[in-house]
Amino acid sequence: MIDVTTPRIEINLAKIEHNSKKLKRLYGSKGIGVIGVTKVVCGDPGIAGVLVKSGINTIADSRIANIRKMREAGIQAKFVLLRTPIPSQAELVVKYADISLNSELSVIKSLSKFAVNNNTKHKIILMVDLGDLREGLMPSDLEDTVKEVLLLDGIELAGIGTNLACFGGIKPDGEKMEYLSSLAGDIEERFGLILEFVSGGNSANYTWFVSAGDTGRINNLRLGESIYLGCETLYRMPIPGLYTDAFTLIAEVIESKIKPSIPYGEVCQDAFGNIPEFKDHGLIRRAILGVGLQDVPVSGLAAGLDIDIMGASSDHIIISAKQAGLKAGDEVVFNLNYEALLSVMTSPYVIKRYVNNL
Ligand SMILES: *Cc1c(COP(=O)(O)O)cnc(C)c1O
Repeated sequence: MIDVTTPRIEINLAKIEHNSKKLKRLYGSKGIGVIGVTKVVCGDPGIAGVLVKSGINTIADSRIANIRKMREAGIQAKFVLLRTPIPSQAELVVKYADISLNSELSVIKSLSKFAVNNNTKHKIILMVDLGDLREGLMPSDLEDTVKEVLLLDGIELAGIGTNLACFGGIKPDGEKMEYLSSLAGDIEERFGLILEFVSGGNSANYTWFVSAGDTGRINNLRLGESIYLGCETLYRMPIPGLYTDAFTLIAEVIESKIKPSIPYGEVCQDAFGNIPEFKDHGLIRRAILGVGLQDVPVSGLAAGLDIDIMGASSDHIIISAKQAGLKAGDEVVFNLNYEALLSVMTSPYVIKRYVNNL
C-alpha cells in the first residue's frame, strides 16, 4: 500500500476545518474577513476544499501554478495572487487570478493591457510598506500611484494592504494598523471611492487583533500559518482552542543498534563541508530514520517521543533513541514548523495522506 509507506505527511482535514472555522469566527467578531492562504501547502486542492467548506470563500497563493491547479481541480472560490506578479507572467495572472497584490506601476499597466485584450477586469490591492521592507510602495508614493491606477482600463482598485513580520520581523502593532487605516481613509476621501479591502496582514496580526478595541478600517487578513499550525507568528504561541498538530511527518526506523556516541578515526569534513563535533556519552542506542535533508529541514522537526536528533544527511536522520526501544520498521512521528511543512509539502518524495478524525 503506497499510502502507508514513509516518509509520509498526515494531513488532518478535520483539524484544519476546525481551525479555519474558529479563526473565521474570531476575526469576524470585529468585522475582519479572512482570506485563506495555501502557499505553504502548495495549493493542495484537498486542503483548499476544506477552507472553502469552512466558509472561507477567498483563497490566496503566491504562485500562479498553484492557483491554476486549484481552479482546474474545481475549487469554487475567488483567487488572489499574493506575490507581486512576476512581470513575464502578467497574462497568466489576469487569466487565473481574480485579484493580485501589486506594488509596481509598470506591472499594473501590463495587467491592464492583458485585461483589456481579454475583455475582463482584474482587481488589484496596492501594497504599502510599513517597515518590514519586503514588498510595497513607500507610503509617500501611494496617492500618486492610485491616481495613475484609476486611469487604467481593465483594472479595478479593490483595496490597499500591508505585510509585516515576514522579512524584517516588524510587529503589526496598533500604530501600524492605525496608519494603514488612515491611508485608506485619505484615499477614499481624496478620490471619492470605497476600498473593498483594507488588508492589514497575516497570522502575525493575531496579537494586535486580540488587544485592539477598535480595528479601524482594517477589514481583512490573509491567514496561512495560524490555520495550519494553530499559532500566531510573532512569538509562535498556540492560539487557544486551535489544533497545533494538524500535520505530522512520519518516518521509519531503518537501522537501530548500540554504537559509540562519538565517531572514531581522524575527523575531517562531513557530507556538507562541516567539521562535526560530538560529546561522548559512551555506548548508546542509535537509530537511523529513512528521511533526510532532501525531504525536510530537520531542525524544524519536533519528535513526539523522548529521543534526540543527533544530525542528518541528505537521506538519513540519526537519532539517539534513548529509552524509546525503537527497531527497524517502527514509525516515529514529528510535528513540523512552517519551514519544515513547506519543504515536506513541496517534496515529491513525501507521501501525502489525508486523515479526517478529531
Ligand atoms: C504568506 C503570506 C501571507 C500569509 O502569511 P501567514 O504567516 O502564513 O499567515 C499573507 N500575505 C502575504 C503577502 C504572504 O506572502
